[in-house]
Amino acid sequence: AVQILQASKSFAGGVTALRELSLEVQQGERVVIIGPSGSGKSTLLRCLAGLEPVDAGRILIEGVPLDEKTRRKIGMVFQSFNLFPHLTVLDNLNLAQRLVQKKSLAEATAASLELLARVNMPDKARSLPGELSGGQQQRVAIARALALKPRIMLFDEVTSALDPEMIGEVLSVIRDLAQAGMTMLVVTHEMAFARELGERVIFMEQGEVIETGDSKSFFARPREARTRDFLSRIL
Ligand code: ATP
Ligand code: MG
Repeated sequence: AVQILQASKSFAGGVTALRELSLEVQQGERVVIIGPSGSGKSTLLRCLAGLEPVDAGRILIEGVPLDEKTRRKIGMVFQSFNLFPHLTVLDNLNLAQRLVQKKSLAEATAASLELLARVNMPDKARSLPGELSGGQQQRVAIARALALKPRIMLFDEVTSALDPEMIGEVLSVIRDLAQAGMTMLVVTHEMAFARELGERVIFMEQGEVIETGDSKSFFARPREARTRDFLSRIL
């Protein structure tokens, strides 16, 4: 579904965030990305979502180079929910469907209400984001990304800003999506979740993929010293 071919990305100031990184993700595959702070995980997802260009290398979505059109196949959810505070939940969900997909208000609303039910919030359509808990806001953000019918979902530490008691309800929505066969790349610090969700785990450091393996053997028998080092620090 996704091919990243020798992607490099540097920032002003001389930081190299991605170093000729290559990665392939199959349709329906769930990939969890872990690695220390500053290793390039968010940059990788942002480039994949078309939010930033790579300096070198190529990104293909279902065989087609990433551009304004193909990037619509990708949905992304961030640590900060980025909902419009002055719009109701329903209007937040309707907005992109109206603008991007040119749906009528009735069509968009029907889809939005269905999505709200899917993230277990059927009765919050008329609420403002500020009236919701962090976990609820994050579930609205997930629903909003799903509204555009992405083929691939990217999650960047979506539980990091949440109180512990809110984390479970967000992870449960992601788990449901995984069960429905959604292709996803998930950056997370929740190792138990990484273990459970990821068919494949990728360990990044300094803009490179250091090790990748199926979830079971990755955690049980990491091959690389740097991976073992990282795991011993966080587990
Ligand atoms: P964390 O776990 O802390 O979220 P990360 O693995 O997501 O870290 P990135 O945010 O991708 O790391 O950052 C990779 C490197 O690129 C870091 O050194 C960071 O400081 C740098 N960087 C990221 N975005 C920018 C930017 N817009 N301008 C300058 N440098 C940036
Ligand atoms: Mg990050």
